[in-house]
Amino acid sequence: MDASEFRRRGKEMVDYVADYMEGIEGRQVYPDVEPGYLRPLIPTTAPQEPDTFEDIINDVEKIIMPGVTHWHSPYFFAYFPTASSYPSMLADMLCGAIGCIGFSWAASPACTELETVMMDWLGKMLQLPEAFLAGNAGEGGGVIQGSASEATLVALLAARTKVTRRLQAASPGLTQAAIMEKLVAYSSDQAHSSVERAGLIGGVKLKAIPSDGKFAMRASALQEALERDKAAGLIPFFVVATLGTTSCCSFDNLLEVGPICIKEDVWLHIDAAYAGSAFICPEFRPLLNGVEFADSFNFNPHKWLLVNFDCSAMWVKKRTDLTGAFKLDPVYLKHSHQDSGLITDYRHWQLPLGRRFRSLKMWFVFRMYGIKGLQAYIRKGSNKLTKALLERINNAKKIHLVPCHLRDKFVLRFAICSRTVESAHVQLAWEHIRGLATELLKAEKE
Ligand SMILES: *Cc1c(COP(=O)(O)O)cnc(C)c1O
Repeated sequence: MDASEFRRRGKEMVDYVADYMEGIEGRQVYPDVEPGYLRPLIPTTAPQEPDTFEDIINDVEKIIMPGVTHWHSPYFFAYFPTASSYPSMLADMLCGAIGCIGFSWAASPACTELETVMMDWLGKMLQLPEAFLAGNAGEGGGVIQGSASEATLVALLAARTKVTRRLQAASPGLTQAAIMEKLVAYSSDQAHSSVERAGLIGGVKLKAIPSDGKFAMRASALQEALERDKAAGLIPFFVVATLGTTSCCSFDNLLEVGPICIKEDVWLHIDAAYAGSAFICPEFRPLLNGVEFADSFNFNPHKWLLVNFDCSAMWVKKRTDLTGAFKLDPVYLKHSHQDSGLITDYRHWQLPLGRRFRSLKMWFVFRMYGIKGLQAYIRKGSNKLTKALLERINNAKKIHLVPCHLRDKFVLRFAICSRTVESAHVQLAWEHIRGLATELLKAEKE
C-alpha cells in the first residue's frame, strides 16, 4: 500500500467506522457464535501471496463482526463503560502514524512532555492536591498506564521496595526474602480482583478487610487487622482503598482510612478506576476528599471520560518512589539530558519499556470537549430537560406532579398521595413517565 492508496483506503475506513458507530444500535449487542467459531472461517496459515485490501475489508463483516460484542451499543450494560469518542479515535490514528516508542524523554520529547502536561491538566480538573502535580519543579506527577491493574501493581511494587529499603537501612543484616515473607497488603473485601492479583504477582500476602453495611472499608476493621498482624510479627506496608467498587460502586471511607495509613507509615493507593471521572464535576468532588492522604491515585479516563482504551491515569506524590524502585540504566538507553532533574523518563514509572503516544488522545478530547463538555457528559442531563419533561407530563393530564429545587437541581417529586393508590397505579404512572421521557429524548436528538 503506497501513500495514494492509503489516502483512499483511509477515507473508506473512516466511512466504515462512522457507519459502524451510526448503525450500531441495529446490530445485536451480544454475538450468536460458539467458542471456536472463527478458526474454520479462515485459512490455517497466513497467505503466501498478498491478499487485497478489499478481500480483508469484506472479511471484516463476514468473519469479525459476527463475533464482536458491541461495547458501544446503547444496549450494552455489562462490565463497565468503555470510553469512545471521535476525537480520541483520530488522535489514535495520529499516534499510530508517529509510531514512536516514548520510553525516555529523548526517545520522543513531545510524547513525554505532552503526557506530563496532560496529567497536570487532568489533575487540576479533579482538584488533586498540588503535591500530585508535576508543574515545573514538583516532586509528584502523573503517568499514563495501560490499565488500573497495572497501576495497582506498580504502586504495590514501589511500596514493597520502599519498605524493604527502610527496614534494611535500620537492620543491615535483614535479607529481602526475610522481609518479603512478612509483608502484608490490605484492601476491602469489595476491591477489584486485580488488587488480589497484584498481591499474587508481587509475592506478598493480601488481606481482605471486611466492609461495613454500606460495603465500605472503615477505620475500625482496618485498624483491627493491622494490630492483629503486627502482633503476629507481620509488616503491614500497603493499603488499597477503592472509590467506586466494581460490584456496587461503594466508596471506602478515605477520611478514616487515610490517617491510619499516615500513622502506620503504610503506602495508600486509591483505585477509582470507574468512578474517578465523575470527580471533574464539583458536586461529586467531595467523594474524593481524603486523597491528600494517598501516595498514589489512579482512575481510568478510558472508562468514563471519552478517551478510548487504553488510558489509565496514575499520579504519585513522590516520583522518586517509582523511579527509585524500577530504575535500570543500560548504556543504550542513556541520553545526555537525563540527569538534569527536569527530565522525565517514563520507562522508570512503569513495567514495560515501550509506550505509545497516548497523551494525544487526552489532548484532542480535552480540547474538543472542554471541561464544560466533559462535565456535561458525566452529568448527562440538564434541568432544561427535566423541566420539559414536567411540561409534557402535566400537559398530558394523565397524572399530576409538582417539582422542587434541590440546591441547583430541578427535580420532579413523585409523592404517593391517595388512600386508594396501589402499586399498579404507580407502575402505570412510571410507564407513562418513561414513555414521555423517551419521546422527549428522541425529539431532543433530532
Ligand atoms: C475497571 C476496574 C478495574 C480494572 O481496570 P483495568 O483498567 O481493566 O485494569 C479495577 N478497579 C476498579 C474499581 C474498576 O472499576
